[in-house]
Amino acid sequence: MCGIFAYIGPKTNAPKIVIEGLKKLEYRGYDSWGVAYKTTDDIVINKKVGKIEEMKEGPWTKAKSSLAMGHSRWATHGGVTEKNAHPQATENRDIVLVHNGIFENYLEVKKQLQKKGHKFISQTDTEVIAHLIEEYGKKFSFEESVKSAIKKIEGRYAIVVLKKNENKIMTARKGSPLIIGVGTPKNEYFIASDIPAFLKYTNKVIYLDDDQMAVIGEKSIKFLDIKKDKEIKKRIIKIDWNVESSEKGDFPHFMIKEITEQKDTLTKAINQDPEIIEKVAQAIKNAYGVYLVGCGTAGKVGMVGEYLFAEIAKKHVNFAFGSEFGNYKDFLTKKTLMICISQSGETADTLEAIETAKKKGVKIVSIVNVESSTMARISDMVIPIKAGPEKAVASTKATTSQIAILTLLAYACDGGVKIGKQLLITTASQINDMLNPRYGEHIMKIAKKIKNVESMYIIGRGKNYPIALESAIKLQEVSYIHAEGFAGGELKHGPIALISKNTPVIALVANDENKKDVLSNATEVKARGGYIIGVSPEKEEVFDFWIRVPDTGSTSPIVNIIPIQILAYQLAVLRKNDPDKPRNLAKSVTVK
Ligand code: GLU
Repeated sequence: MCGIFAYIGPKTNAPKIVIEGLKKLEYRGYDSWGVAYKTTDDIVINKKVGKIEEMKEGPWTKAKSSLAMGHSRWATHGGVTEKNAHPQATENRDIVLVHNGIFENYLEVKKQLQKKGHKFISQTDTEVIAHLIEEYGKKFSFEESVKSAIKKIEGRYAIVVLKKNENKIMTARKGSPLIIGVGTPKNEYFIASDIPAFLKYTNKVIYLDDDQMAVIGEKSIKFLDIKKDKEIKKRIIKIDWNVESSEKGDFPHFMIKEITEQKDTLTKAINQDPEIIEKVAQAIKNAYGVYLVGCGTAGKVGMVGEYLFAEIAKKHVNFAFGSEFGNYKDFLTKKTLMICISQSGETADTLEAIETAKKKGVKIVSIVNVESSTMARISDMVIPIKAGPEKAVASTKATTSQIAILTLLAYACDGGVKIGKQLLITTASQINDMLNPRYGEHIMKIAKKIKNVESMYIIGRGKNYPIALESAIKLQEVSYIHAEGFAGGELKHGPIALISKNTPVIALVANDENKKDVLSNATEVKARGGYIIGVSPEKEEVFDFWIRVPDTGSTSPIVNIIPIQILAYQLAVLRKNDPDKPRNLAKSVTVK
């Protein structure tokens, strides 16, 4: 959600570098954008509503400057307008600032500043901090005034601040991602919300932690612990990502690239350090109360986990969405174990759930893709899924890898981690057969048939019930068709009233004890005129259209979601939607 990119160094085309960087962060989702760059005695600001591509060329691309910053905004406070876009600035552009996140006490601070004569022109929370820094600047140095302002504000943020007469960048974070890239000529720095944005220039990074601030000058960098008010040292870390893994290559979209990568990503997820899997399994067994927590797709993965632990390990675990977790706080003790699932590791609702749990002494395990993320860094144990950068907003490869990890954990709890691993290896090789063009062409037939429908439904039972919910999310996210998932047995208690002639209903079938029942549910739908699309290892009479999946036993959630991912992608393309950047959505949801 939102992108920040800044540059300071010897290059003189900083505005262009910043815009290129912002483009690499587009996958995070945004509605407007802007750039600010320093000239000899001023800071120039350009802001636009809409996509960067539409305004790629302009004075900002040709401007000469060695210090610039940019922002792609995902509006939270104030409508999507040029005035509300970032950079935000004080009246005479003395303080200029970009911000990701929300300042919770901004109204109170705004009132205090208004009394002192400050005038505001935007509706954002961000503008308030620019004025607050300016106010402190009457007494303090630039560094001191940024630090004081940060101490006064509440909420989650990543900020980059410039001051008119200073060749310096101040940057700080709490709860929102921000990484510093260290360029090869000494004294060149990139600041971004995500590493791929500057990977073209450097793979040396410094991770800023919560409540830390960096003061970056033309020839120096220093770090401060804001709370303790003292200077600290930070390590430079070399990361092993390569540029290709975060580029589209020959694929038309990231979404289809990432779907296609799933054979490999699943294999990487399985090849975990066996010690960490055993350690987490032991923690699950020893815990008194286990909660799986996630949001959106990761939430559905958590729900699949509930079923997997019941089926494989005969163990009861609870599930809660990150935003709902707080409601269970009275059940949390030092013996509770919380397993958080997140692709980005920056999901604000899940991070807040962790804060709630930590207050009660709960142990935290996280299953994340971005190993450098806040979630990974504040957890007691981390299982990295190792899927590589996932850029399409709709999660695909991270989903199946997360399910694979939970499957492995469930087997490990039952003492059979080797059986689980073998099953997943077989599943990975069978997925390979699904990820070929012929399979896609078959699914395209149904995509063409249903591309203009108003609504569609997905049913599943047992561990494929959460997959029905996840299927609905996938279809909603990129095709914008109204899609809803149900537990097969629930249809007759209400939703079946929605079925009319030719309503497409996808039945997710697995060769398990739920098979007979879900097929009966499909028959009930068909009797009301529904058009049944069966995702199943075998062809069944009730199907009007059959999508074959391999028969993989306990890993059926993995194989059943893949054809739906492909279908969602194809529907998006047929309906001329952008599958990588769906409307209104952001990749990592860093606001509550
Ligand atoms: N709260 C800020 C705004 O609405 C920042 C939003 C963002 O993270 O993009 O302007």
